[in-house]
Amino acid sequence: MTRIGILAFQGDFREHARAVEQLGAESRLVRLPRDLEGVDGLILPGGESTVMGKLMIAYDVVESLRSLLAEGMPAWGTCAGMILLSRETDNALAGQPLLASINMRTRRNAFGAQRESFETMLNVPAIGPEPYHAVFIRGPVVEEVGEGVEVLARIDAPEPNIVAVRQNRLLATAFHPEVTGDLRFHEYFLGMVRDARAATV
Ligand code: GLN
Repeated sequence: MTRIGILAFQGDFREHARAVEQLGAESRLVRLPRDLEGVDGLILPGGESTVMGKLMIAYDVVESLRSLLAEGMPAWGTCAGMILLSRETDNALAGQPLLASINMRTRRNAFGAQRESFETMLNVPAIGPEPYHAVFIRGPVVEEVGEGVEVLARIDAPEPNIVAVRQNRLLATAFHPEVTGDLRFHEYFLGMVRDARAATV
């Protein structure tokens, strides 16, 4: 069975666990390096990236995560998790650790006070022709992507911005696919994890 590790310090890790289980995969909550053993893919949930960063340091899990990602572990970051996967984020707090796996620059809290949180319909050809209902909660945007990064979705308003990307086995979304009941992004990620397993067997 496919086993998905979910970084479980803070934020909406329970919703992600429920979603992957609904799709027939096993979930494993990850806080310590040993929790990563036997995991086939990793979800970094939404929440607050600065708080997660402090806890990742306190639980000594940063280097284990970095080396698994460098070895090709499939991973998906949503919202705060997207920030964690970025090479660089514009307004990181001093000392905030990033896993620096996707060749992109993000901006935290990109939507300002007026539209801090909003919902919109996205066109995401990678997950199918039906529009996707995306929920943004103090989310980031992708300011710049480098080589090897494929843009999966953009928004036009409040400003044109990139909000979903993929780089090989890594996926990142600025919104929260675990809160709507539309599991197409979870399905898409589980497909990436199965493909990675098939490639290494
Ligand atoms: N603003 C948060 C951060 O910087 C992200 C918000 C979220 O994950 N819903 O981490």
